[in-house]
Amino acid sequence: MKVWIDQDLCTGDGLCEEIAPDVFVLLDDGLAYVREGEKIFAASEGNTEGAKGMAEFPDDQMDLVVESAEECPGECIYIEP
Ligand code: SF4
Repeated sequence: MKVWIDQDLCTGDGLCEEIAPDVFVLLDDGLAYVREGEKIFAASEGNTEGAKGMAEFPDDQMDLVVESAEECPGECIYIEP
């Protein structure tokens, strides 16, 4: 499964990173981004896809990713097949 964040709606509260730190990371710009290990899907991290990038996450992260999406106050975490 893949996941992405619409940073335009992100409030920067960091809940997703607290719940699933292997998949989400809050950067210095105050917004959350998705990650695959050390690869962070943000232009500021040298990823040219920027925020449009979708990160693949392993099945064992599914519950945490779904919980993050449900708790996200910006309702801006999207899970894709
Ligand atoms: S939980 Fe949602 S609003 Fe909060 S930092 Fe993560 S993506 Fe942004």
